[in-house]
Amino acid sequence: MPTYEYACNSCGHEFEAFQSFSEAALTECPQCKGEVRKVFSNVGVVFKGSGFYKTDSRTDAKSSKPATPVTPAAPKPATPPAS
Ligand SMILES: [Zn+2]
Repeated sequence: MPTYEYACNSCGHEFEAFQSFSEAALTECPQCKGEVRKVFSNVGVVFKGSGFYKTDSRTDAKSSKPATPVTPAAPKPATPPAS
């Protein structure tokens, strides 16, 4: 049974929940009934705030963007000359 870690957006309460993969994620804080978010503690990174998304996507978009769309020399369809 995997362990999921949650953190409350309202009161900051952190707790763990044992859930199977088929179970839906928790959305309610057991203390204040506020909204909770899932914390991925197994990778050693705690997502606090939302700023890292912008910087991450910016560098990614720059590197992964193709310079110019290349038109390949596609084989021409056998069209009879209009006469
Ligand atoms: Zn709470």
